[in-house]
Amino acid sequence: MVSVGLVMLQGARHAHIAALEKAADNLGVGLEIIELRTPEEITSSNLDAIVFPGGESTTMRLTGGVEGNGLLPALFSWLRANPDLPVLATCAGAILMADPQDGDPPLVNGVINRNGYGRQADSFQAELQTPELGGSFPGVFIRAPRFKSVEGAAVAVAYNQDEVVAIREGCWIAATFHPELTDDIRFHTWLLTQAGGDSK
Ligand code: GLN
Repeated sequence: MVSVGLVMLQGARHAHIAALEKAADNLGVGLEIIELRTPEEITSSNLDAIVFPGGESTTMRLTGGVEGNGLLPALFSWLRANPDLPVLATCAGAILMADPQDGDPPLVNGVINRNGYGRQADSFQAELQTPELGGSFPGVFIRAPRFKSVEGAAVAVAYNQDEVVAIREGCWIAATFHPELTDDIRFHTWLLTQAGGDSK
């Protein structure tokens, strides 16, 4: 059984659940989704992995920041204390991992620009190259952020060969696109495998 904490601030959560269920089925492991809405749910749950969905980072900062329910600062300090807990952060989730604004260092070493490809109308799909998983990956970019620089992080996925669109730091992946909105569940499978889901 793998317990995956899902950050419930906003965004494409149901698509992540569907992808995780499919990945768990394929691996033949049990899956428990733990919805994370309060700091206590992070610290008191026995989490094996975390999915940090996209959405609107400004809204997420308001609702999950210290003035809101405090979920974000609690998550960031929990992750810093538990670097072996695998994380898949997508889009706005990647923005918040790279720029947590909680007074402590970023969780992933990338300088990231919000809406770096333009406005909603500039959302696009593209075939990506993924050294992490091998081969290509279908990229869905929705008002996506863009990495300006990625010092020290491993390139997990590239666009046009040399533009970095996902980085990996240890067992944390931050992707500027939405793997959960495709039929390709390799990132969710990766997460469950990192969490020990191939041996449980
Ligand atoms: N543009 C959004 C932001 O700045 C991110 C978009 C997304 O998560 N799909 O937070």
